[in-house]
Amino acid sequence: MSSPTTGGPGLDQARRLVTEIPGPRSRELAARRAAAVPAGVVSGQPVFAAAAGGGVLVDVDGNSFIDFGSGIAVTTVGNSAPRVVDRAVDQLHRFTHTCFLINPYEEYVAVCEALNRLTPGDHPKRTALFNSGAEAVENAVKYARAATGRPAVVVFDHAYHGRTLLTMAMTAKNTPYKKDFGPFAPEVYRAPMAYPYRSAGGELAALRDLIDVQIGAENVACVVVEPIQGEGGFVVPAPGFLPGVADLCRERGVLLVADEVQTGFARTGDLFACEHEGIVPDLITTAKGLAGGLPLAAVTGRAEIMDAVHAGGIGGTYSGNPAACAAALGVIETIEAQNLVERARTIGARFRSRLTALHHPVIGEVRGRGGMIAVELVEPGTTTPNPAAVAAVIRYCQERGLLVLSAGTYGNVLRFLPPLVIPDHLLDEGLDLLSDAFAAL
Ligand SMILES: *Cc1c(COP(=O)(O)O)cnc(C)c1O
Repeated sequence: MSSPTTGGPGLDQARRLVTEIPGPRSRELAARRAAAVPAGVVSGQPVFAAAAGGGVLVDVDGNSFIDFGSGIAVTTVGNSAPRVVDRAVDQLHRFTHTCFLINPYEEYVAVCEALNRLTPGDHPKRTALFNSGAEAVENAVKYARAATGRPAVVVFDHAYHGRTLLTMAMTAKNTPYKKDFGPFAPEVYRAPMAYPYRSAGGELAALRDLIDVQIGAENVACVVVEPIQGEGGFVVPAPGFLPGVADLCRERGVLLVADEVQTGFARTGDLFACEHEGIVPDLITTAKGLAGGLPLAAVTGRAEIMDAVHAGGIGGTYSGNPAACAAALGVIETIEAQNLVERARTIGARFRSRLTALHHPVIGEVRGRGGMIAVELVEPGTTTPNPAAVAAVIRYCQERGLLVLSAGTYGNVLRFLPPLVIPDHLLDEGLDLLSDAFAAL
């Protein structure tokens, strides 16, 4: 069958398999890929995309998959969402690039105004734009160092902050992110995370010790934390941990950086995950959900911190690309117009009730918030990680037309990040398939 040439919400919202998976056209492209793309770049799913929108991704053979991944929490408003496409296309027709460092444009300023208004805290703020989550995290550290005059950066076990030199050092997991790529950037220190399923408590005391005794508070620029850890396995910190971290930072003049690259933009049932426990970070990084798939990232922070960097110290050729900025304005409109914050909560409740009802012996924990839900799989009767069960569930789903992602330091977490515009019938059909996948283990 012929492939659709346009995506967006107009795509037939149905799961449909018309070939084996992967189909002949995907296999043909995989062979070309193997000869042209290096082995270090891998894809979790074997099918090449042709179109996507609403709650489905259609491959080059005409198979239509239910999407529980959103390209890793990026297409929160759906793929090719009309407001995103219309604004980006209109912008592309006017100009594709000037470089904001040469000729500024209104769309960049409008995105910064929106982020200053929408992020937690009512203090004066400024925003600077970048291309990727890692670049935003790197720049948040630059701001924190410049504003405090201190070198050290504190991060957590299970953290993921990116793959550039500094953010690799900040990321916890060696394989695949860091293996063979050292030496790493200095002055990065790691504290234990309050991971209720796996940790015993005492993490705040350990953080205090690390800062006061091992590094010396006067040397610490910032603590960087994901309010819900993403790649680390959707670890929701124990209640009270994040407010405790915020207090500890404030008492020592250490800046608190919330890395909301994965949690931001309605994903967790709040516009930002920090809001759940009422913490107000000094700096916040955003990216994935920000521009509906166009590359855009941001650092938003207290005006006095953001203005501490010398003129010309921050920037990049493509940072804040005009089409990406236009897309971000379309994302923000879509979240408001379709009430996607509320929708994330409904989706979360639906996932949670179905997943907790499974009572399968490999399920160690169901956790997450809003449209960011995970199940951690273990060997029955233990807390020993069970990555083989995760791989089996993903394979079962993939062969039947459901896209599911893994995560976790131990590779033993299934994570669900559906586009928040997914229709209920696809949500339920996907959950039925998941339930079958567990039954088949
Ligand atoms: C994905 C991610 C990053 C890195 O973003 P890239 O755009 O891939 O560089 C940083 N922090 C968190 C929390 C992420 O989930």
